[in-house]
Amino acid sequence: MVHTLIERLAETDRPRLVAELRSRGISPFYRTAESMIGSSVRLEGRDVLMFGSNNYLGLAGDIRVRSAAVEQIHRYGSATTGSRLLNGSNKLHVEIEELIAGWYRAVDALVFTSGYTANVGVLSALMGSGDIIVVDEYAHASIIDGARLSGAQILRFEHNNVESLRNVLTAAETAAGEALVVVDGLYSMEGSLAPLPEIVAICQDRGAAIMVDEAHSLGLYGESLCGWAEECGVLGEVDILMGSLSKGLGSTGGFIAGSAELIAGLKGTARSHLFTTSATPASLGAALESLRIVMSPEGRDIAHQVRTSSAHLAHLLHEQGVALDLPRAGWSPILSVKIGSDEEAVEVWNEILNSGVYVGVALHPAVPRGRSILRICVTADHRPDDLRHVADVIGTAVVGVPAL
Ligand code: PMP
Repeated sequence: MVHTLIERLAETDRPRLVAELRSRGISPFYRTAESMIGSSVRLEGRDVLMFGSNNYLGLAGDIRVRSAAVEQIHRYGSATTGSRLLNGSNKLHVEIEELIAGWYRAVDALVFTSGYTANVGVLSALMGSGDIIVVDEYAHASIIDGARLSGAQILRFEHNNVESLRNVLTAAETAAGEALVVVDGLYSMEGSLAPLPEIVAICQDRGAAIMVDEAHSLGLYGESLCGWAEECGVLGEVDILMGSLSKGLGSTGGFIAGSAELIAGLKGTARSHLFTTSATPASLGAALESLRIVMSPEGRDIAHQVRTSSAHLAHLLHEQGVALDLPRAGWSPILSVKIGSDEEAVEVWNEILNSGVYVGVALHPAVPRGRSILRICVTADHRPDDLRHVADVIGTAVVGVPAL
């Protein structure tokens, strides 16, 4: 019986692809690092330049952030061993929630053990059968999973296409329930930026609530660096703000910021918050220190450096003849190169790795079939020499592969 179930599992798309690529020795999946700090990491016995990490601000390796994590382990122990609801809340949870709420000019905030569980928790708690959740077609899996769990109807609009969003909301207007539109500030795979002012205006016009996932954009955009909604001047118009501690902040965890009523409601109903062990002292210690750095004048310098490096790399890649789909609304630390088929993308990815550079690769189902991409992430750890080297390597591997 269980044998049949496991066989069925192995026949789904992803395991089949993983097994096939592994047998050819070119799998991008589950490669194992021996060191992860800085722009050069050690991967299976070789030094490679890391251009596939979400450590945009370089804080995961910052000695102050690492020391803060260690300090909190010494103070509180290695784990909280309980849910927030019962024995798993400590002063670090409260401190970070107050800091985050103030950062987003929200009344309150709630920390989750990951960004994934934050999205799943808020959507499944807030929405229900008869309601409508409208998502960008490139919405992150955690948004889709939360929406599915809620029992609400899920409607998709074309990526960053405001007319498509308007049409979907207009067609949905006859429904009796509530409508919530969920978008990312910065899309994690493509590096594109949501046209938030237009999206917010459409939501207001159609009476839909709006939630923005700032997982990748916090620490990089806006006057106080809390994300893309702030940079777009619509922070106060967004009903629910979601963020992750797991990317720019160099830790692990997620949060929701919003009204007092929203947070109080989630504390009683968000199952992915209630029925899991709370964020560890180490994660919170690291995230708190990162937040202090981001909120200090140094934060602006770091964001500025990432921006300058990203623009420089985009220029170098352009000189190499690599076609990039850069967002029009602003700059992005994520540069994506369209490749096409999964097979081609893996071949190119492997050639780049063999030249000593690790980039991300997004294959189906992370992206639509036939639209695989290389995902190049620029971080504050990268130096001009790294940028020049990676541009040469990617240029050599990519040019000649027909673009989509
Ligand atoms: N939202 C988006 C847009 C993401 O890209 C991710 C992670 N890749 C998450 C949420 C989940 O965040 P976490 O990694 O903290 O679970």
